[in-house]
Amino acid sequence: MLGPQGIFKPRIMNEVPLSITTAPHGPYDDSFGPDELLRYRYRGTDPNHSDNKGLRFAMERRLPLVYIHGVVPGKYLVTWPVFVVGDDPENLTFSVAVDDARHLGLSDNPSLQMGVREDAETARRTYITAAVRVRLHQRAFRERVLEAYRRQCAFCRLRHEELLDAAHIIPDSEPGGEPVVHNGLSLCTLHHAAFDRYFIGLRPDFTIEVREDLRRERDGPTLLHAIQGLHDSRIVLPRRAEFRPARELLEVRYERFRQAVQRGA
Ligand SMILES: [Zn+2]
Repeated sequence: MLGPQGIFKPRIMNEVPLSITTAPHGPYDDSFGPDELLRYRYRGTDPNHSDNKGLRFAMERRLPLVYIHGVVPGKYLVTWPVFVVGDDPENLTFSVAVDDARHLGLSDNPSLQMGVREDAETARRTYITAAVRVRLHQRAFRERVLEAYRRQCAFCRLRHEELLDAAHIIPDSEPGGEPVVHNGLSLCTLHHAAFDRYFIGLRPDFTIEVREDLRRERDGPTLLHAIQGLHDSRIVLPRRAEFRPARELLEVRYERFRQAVQRGA
């Protein structure tokens, strides 16, 4: 299914490609345009290259393709069906929309007026494509953060990937909350929840601070080892300096921790 990079057309298929692939990019891998549709670059610069003609043919015939998105080197997310819905020879790109497999063939439903049918289809595809975009970005963020922390919890070093999350230092719903590695921490699910609920704070010098009332509490081994035991220890850091938590983001987050502690006290 996977061409080395780009448009893949098995020999048995005469004109129409089977899949399109994008290689992993930088943090703002925006292969998406402002209209939320995926932008897919032509093969080379000749609009009449056979691969480009193939995608145009798929557009005219409204044929579904497979979209393979490189998240990080060696990891891909596969989306199907996608449709080529626009051709922009000036910028050497196609626009591609994701659709729901349940709607395959429904666009031929003769009981609906053509215009109504197309409007509903465009709205649905825009919505689904935007959702896929969010999923691709979340997945890319997780992969990059886990990789930077060598697939362990930054607080407790737990190495089971199934139990690891990419936590945001500044939430992604806020300005500054970009899905970039220096706004992330690889945390196990317990420490992710404890960090988000201000049980645990992280000082801008990368030292863990456990809320004082929790430090005094007496309970079982989880509280003792997994929470209290972290106090005053330094987190695991990515080897590359630019992947380490950004100081200004940690300062904002630590201030929130202090305020939450004061409110609780
Ligand atoms: Zn942990």
